[in-house]
Amino acid sequence: MRSIAEALQSMLPAFPTLGEEEVPLTRAAGRYLASDIVADLDSPAFDNSAMDGYAVRAAVVASASTDIPVRLRVSSESRTGGDIPSELEPGTVCRIFTGATMPPGADAVVIQEDTKRDGEEVDIFEASTVGRHVRARGSDVRRGETILRQGDRLWPGEIGLLASQNVARMRVYRQPRVALLSTGDELETLGEELAPGKIINSNVYVLGEMLGLLGAIPDPLPAARDDLPSIEAALRRALEADVVITIGGVSVGAYDLVHEAFQHLGIDPEFWKVRIKPGKPLAFAQHHGKPVIGLPGNPISAMVTFEVLVAPCLRQMLGDREPHPQPLVARLQHAYHRRPGRVEIARGVATRHGDEIHVSLHKLQGSGSLPSFVGVNALVILPSDRGDFNAGDQVDTILWGSGLRGPHSFFDSVS
Ligand code: AMP
Ligand code: MG
Repeated sequence: MRSIAEALQSMLPAFPTLGEEEVPLTRAAGRYLASDIVADLDSPAFDNSAMDGYAVRAAVVASASTDIPVRLRVSSESRTGGDIPSELEPGTVCRIFTGATMPPGADAVVIQEDTKRDGEEVDIFEASTVGRHVRARGSDVRRGETILRQGDRLWPGEIGLLASQNVARMRVYRQPRVALLSTGDELETLGEELAPGKIINSNVYVLGEMLGLLGAIPDPLPAARDDLPSIEAALRRALEADVVITIGGVSVGAYDLVHEAFQHLGIDPEFWKVRIKPGKPLAFAQHHGKPVIGLPGNPISAMVTFEVLVAPCLRQMLGDREPHPQPLVARLQHAYHRRPGRVEIARGVATRHGDEIHVSLHKLQGSGSLPSFVGVNALVILPSDRGDFNAGDQVDTILWGSGLRGPHSFFDSVS
């Protein structure tokens, strides 16, 4: 049986990026860049004022002070978005506003608060230095500079930078389409009446959402029955996607027929089991280079194995240079005892207390218990060789879902 690390080592090489496509900026959020982006424009594109005030030549106001102001004529005005101002007449100032172009010949801005206007003239009460309150052309970005790198994910900040550079379209990696093939005679579609012994196919909705949040495209197929022809037919259809995920039927029960269906289609798993709890039965194969993953059917097992083993692979496929979550260290709030042997991914609630993250495990830790994932914001990693954990022990914890939140603003205690 493989460790989680060994399983990931086998899986990751099967998830290269899928090629590129061009998207408009308005469709690019959450995507990963397929190439570096080089600035086409200086930013700012022109010297402009950082404040409302008066554009001056610093040398002319060098002697200004509150007691002995320098009085100068206001010879021009530069409005934000207005005409390009002409050269500043020597010995005068130009009325200017935030974002407006600096007139040639001016090299500093005196803020309005340090002046007093008197008709056509203004008293300057504060000396200035060259460049003060001026946003110089190219001071943020120089034309020709690499501003974003291949593999960067486009979050709002990146979108803003691209928009400011007038980049309307960009090359991103293609999103994998991931077939979700549930198996089980007990499964019903959401909204259908539940006959005795039947359950709603909740996994397909959960995994569909998890795929969407990663940035992949879920392709949920109708659930297959627990018979070989049904599973095989569904698998053939699933193999049209970029990645195949089957759900359920990978265990050792008489109706766990996914093994056999794989065999019939020539899908040859590299492994069937991983030392992870919940979720031991987990198959991974490559069919003509296409990744095929058999997830366990128990809802919590499916979620945990997806998050730990499948999500990093898909992030890599989506173009992420850093596909692996980095745990933070949290302090367990209570004792927990279990049988060692597998790495356990326990669901918990993390909170912040001063310098520390505290984590409490959900009291339900069963592999089928859906309430055990509700309100959870932390996956606690319990190493395989330890069975006894005490209150106060430090545990590695991956933040999940909403992350750390609280009812009170942190800024109540920050001035
Ligand atoms: P299996 O892996 O097929 O042996 O299923 C293990 C448990 O998970 C059984 O209780 C199944 O009813 C349940 N299960 C399997 N597939 C799903 C699914 N798609 N949605 C919800 N529960 C499932
Ligand atoms: Mg089943």
